[in-house]
Amino acid sequence: MIKGIGSWLVKHSKVSPERLALVYNERRFTYAEFNERVNRLSHALLNLGVRKGDRVDALLLNTNEMMEAVFACAKIGAIFVPINFRLSVDEVLYIVNDSRAYHFIYDVRMRPVVDQLRLKDSSLQEYIHVGNNPHEEDSLYEELIAGASNAEPEFDVVLDDIHLMMYTSGTTGKPKGAMLSHGNTQWNAINCIHSIPSDNSDITLCVAPLFHIGGMSVFTLPLLYKGGTVILDDGFDPSRVLQKIHEEKITSIFLVPAMWQALTVVPNFESYDISSLRFAVSGGAPCPITVIEFYQKRNIPFYEGFGLTETAPFVSILDKENTVRKNGSVGKEPVHTTVRIVDPNDRDVPPGEVGELIVQGPNIMFGYWNKPEATKEAIKNGWFYTGDLAKFDDEGFIYIVDRKKDMIITGGENVYPIEIEQVLYRHENIAEVAIIGYPDEKWGESVKAIVSLKDKSQTLTVQDVASFLDGKIARFKIPKQVEVVEALPRNATGKILKTVLRQQVQV
Ligand code: ATP
Repeated sequence: MIKGIGSWLVKHSKVSPERLALVYNERRFTYAEFNERVNRLSHALLNLGVRKGDRVDALLLNTNEMMEAVFACAKIGAIFVPINFRLSVDEVLYIVNDSRAYHFIYDVRMRPVVDQLRLKDSSLQEYIHVGNNPHEEDSLYEELIAGASNAEPEFDVVLDDIHLMMYTSGTTGKPKGAMLSHGNTQWNAINCIHSIPSDNSDITLCVAPLFHIGGMSVFTLPLLYKGGTVILDDGFDPSRVLQKIHEEKITSIFLVPAMWQALTVVPNFESYDISSLRFAVSGGAPCPITVIEFYQKRNIPFYEGFGLTETAPFVSILDKENTVRKNGSVGKEPVHTTVRIVDPNDRDVPPGEVGELIVQGPNIMFGYWNKPEATKEAIKNGWFYTGDLAKFDDEGFIYIVDRKKDMIITGGENVYPIEIEQVLYRHENIAEVAIIGYPDEKWGESVKAIVSLKDKSQTLTVQDVASFLDGKIARFKIPKQVEVVEALPRNATGKILKTVLRQQVQV
C-alpha cells in the first residue's frame, strides 16, 4: 500500500493515463508511462538491495531520470538525495559520506567527477549510470529498468517517512541535509496550489536545477500532484527559455533572480510571445527591484515568493492583486503555514519593526540529517527559525529585510545590505552589487560595496557611489569603501556568496 507521494502517480495513471506528465527533449511520457518507468526503477533498486530508509544519492541533470528516481525512492520508502552537479569532487564526497549512501545514480555527463569519486574512500557500493540516450546500450539505468517488474511495488510508506534530503547550498556554512517527509512535500504542494492556483492543464518549464528545492518543489512536484505537465530543460540558456515559453505555451515557471535578470538582456526579448504565462515566480534570493519592474512594465504576471529548503520550500508569495501596491513584499503565508516575526526574546514585534521570521506548519522539515544540535537550534517548540530578518506592514504583508548573519552594525546602527543593494541596482553602470561589513576601529563595522560594472571600460569610485546615494538613503548607510570586481561569486542557483566575498576582498 502506497500512502506517500508515490500515490499521486498511481492515481493519475489510473484516472488520466494518457495525460502528458513529463517532457525531456524528444522524450514524452504520459502518466501511465511515467508511472511504469517509476515502478520498474523501484524494483530495480529493491533488486540492488535498497531498503526502506536507505539513502540513494544522485548526480543528475534536469532529466526524466531525475524525476523517476524521486518517485521510485518515494515508492519504496528510500530517501533520495539529489546533489548539486556543479560541486567539486570533495564536496560531492562530503555529501555522499555524510548521507552514508550505498547507491549512486549519475548522468554520464558527470563521469569526470564520478571517476575521481570512485578513487576516494566513500560509503558507495553501487554506481548506476544514465546514458544521454535512453536506448544507449551503455546505460546501466536503462538495462536495470528493462529487466525489472512494472508492477506497483508493495510498500508501506507513511506521510511521516522521509523521502527527500536536500543539502542547503551552504551560503552560511557547511552543507546540511534537510530531511523532508512525504507529508512535507504533499503539504507544500497543497500550499502552492492554494496560493498559485494551478490545475492539470498547466504546463511548467523546469530549468531551475532540480537539486535545489526551488526547481523541485515550487511547480514541478506540485504540478505532478495536480496532474499537470512538466517540461524539463537540463541547462539554462536565456533565449531558449523564452523560445520554449513561446513554443510550448508554458503557463508557470519558477526561476531564481539571476535567471530572471539574464532574460531581461536577451536581444529581441519583445519578439517572443510569452503571453501564455500565468505565473512567473522568482524566489530563493532577493530579486533586484529593477528586474521586478522590467516584468511589471510588460504586464507579465511576476511574483516574488519566499522560501527555504527547510520549509519544503514555500513560505509566502505576493498575490496578483497586490504586486504593484505592495511592491517589494513577499506577500503572505499560505493557508496551512503560519509566520511570526519575533524579537530575540521570542515576542512578536509590532508591524514595521524588524525581527526574525519564524515558521510553523506541516511543511517544516523533520530536522538536519545527523545534526541534532543544529536541528535543536533551528526548530524550537515546533517553530522553524529561518535566520531571516523581516517585518510586517500594518496589513500583514511580509517584507524580507535581510539575513541575520548579513546585517551590519555600524556605530550602533543596524544596516541591512539588501536595502542599499536595491538602491544601487538603479545605478546605470552597476551590473551586480553586494554590500558587506568590514571591521572598523571607530564604528565597529563599516559598510563596503563590491560591484561589477556593465561597462567594464569605466570605473566607479567611492565618491561616485556616495553622490549617487546622497539623499536616497541615510548617511550612515553609505559605503565607505567601494571595490570593483570582474564578477561576484555565486552558487549554483545564482545566489551571491557573501561568505566567499568576505574572504576574497581586501577589507
Ligand atoms: P544556506 O541556508 O546554507 O545559506 P541557501 O541559502 O542556499 O543555503 P536555501 O534554502 O536555498 O538555502 O535559501 C533560503 C534562503 O534564501 C532564505 O533563508 C532567504 O535568506 C533567501 N531567500 C529566499 N527567497 C527570498 C526572497 N524572495 N527574498 C529574499 N531572500 C530570499
